[in-house]
Amino acid sequence: MTEVDVKNLKITDIRFADIDGAPKRCTLIKIMTNQGIEGYGEVRDASSKTYAAMLKSRIIGLNPCNVDYIFHKIKQFGFHSRQGGGVSGIEVALLDLAGKAWGVPVWQLLGGKFRDKVRVYCDTDVDGKHTGRDMGLALKKRMEQGFTMLKMDLGIGLLMDEPGTICAPLGFIDDMKKYAPHILNVQGGSVTSDMVSHKNSYDIVNTAHPFTGIHITEKGLDYLEDYVRQVREVIGYEVPLAIDHFGHVCVEDSILFARRMEKYRLAWIEDMVPWQMHDQLHRLKHSTAVPVCTGEDIYLKEEFKKLFEDDCVSIIHPDILTCGGAMELKKIADLADENGVAVAVHMAESPIACLAAAHTAAAMHNVLALEFHSVDCPWWKDMVNLYDGGKIIDNGFITVPDTPGLGIESLNDEVLKAHINKDIPGYFESTDEWNVEFSNDRLWS
Ligand SMILES: [Mg+2]
Repeated sequence: MTEVDVKNLKITDIRFADIDGAPKRCTLIKIMTNQGIEGYGEVRDASSKTYAAMLKSRIIGLNPCNVDYIFHKIKQFGFHSRQGGGVSGIEVALLDLAGKAWGVPVWQLLGGKFRDKVRVYCDTDVDGKHTGRDMGLALKKRMEQGFTMLKMDLGIGLLMDEPGTICAPLGFIDDMKKYAPHILNVQGGSVTSDMVSHKNSYDIVNTAHPFTGIHITEKGLDYLEDYVRQVREVIGYEVPLAIDHFGHVCVEDSILFARRMEKYRLAWIEDMVPWQMHDQLHRLKHSTAVPVCTGEDIYLKEEFKKLFEDDCVSIIHPDILTCGGAMELKKIADLADENGVAVAVHMAESPIACLAAAHTAAAMHNVLALEFHSVDCPWWKDMVNLYDGGKIIDNGFITVPDTPGLGIESLNDEVLKAHINKDIPGYFESTDEWNVEFSNDRLWS
């Protein structure tokens, strides 16, 4: 480690590299200083570096160790989902720098550890037409790799080609298949700029659950129930199994579905209703014995506080790169703890976000597990070099590094350069165009 004059440490630059296929788009952040040490952060998966780059002029010249001071200065520029990625990613990079400057791991900066190892739960998808047994076998493989909690996609995507299972305004399902195939259980496929700029695709994806007019017939519910029965038949009933990506259907149908699921003892059902619709979430939670979970798109602790006050959830799954960063995630977990709510940390990004989330999860009282999407990406773990040279995930757990900052000594330039997003070329290029961005940054007069 370089000897650091902490008092005179200053931020000099912020740069980015956009990686593709890990398994989604990741934007890596490097914050540089006047003393050679660098902090690593990341913008939320499938987001945009602009959300971080626009903050450059607001942080240049500041001491990165004053993490909370800088967070308070920039947090007005974040918002929910991907728009929280700039503020959150910079906060993570600042904590990495503070840890490196003082020679302590991030978990220590957050108050110390509740555990040395963080359980990783593994998300699994099987693309294309398949059966519950196929999914069960894919999940079983994860168990054989050491994973002790599982999640799968389950929803209306499975019903698209099953006659008589879905009731919707005629033509709507055909439009979904044509313009928004990525929301039909194709998790690995991130939203592309084509999809976002195509009006039909954008409109379908942004039609919220109560407004699509989609219903699931009894035959459809039978189909989904039989799918889960097949999955449980392969993996057994002892391992926790959560589900996600149900699709945009109204809360009434979600309740019918959830009741069918009770006998399969799901760990949770995720984002069945947009997180903003508290009345509907409350109704769902109180209509079924299956735990209800939301939170990956929520920015800052205040919105989580309202979710708890309105008794909407049993589990939250905040993303460290949307919620405001590591310190905010710790505060959110503490609020959840006071309300008897567990935390399953959402994570679909690179080892930088994974380690940041693992440090924070180690410092939480009420964490269930940390998500992992990249089992099938062989180069994911090689994107960074750890100080201790160890593995990031081993046999379904992360041993949280005791080395400074996030525990990342350097980025693996060779691996990252081989996976640069073709649509966003460049590798930690100059960001001088953001040096003088300015506005009167106050929220009152
Ligand atoms: Mg999710």
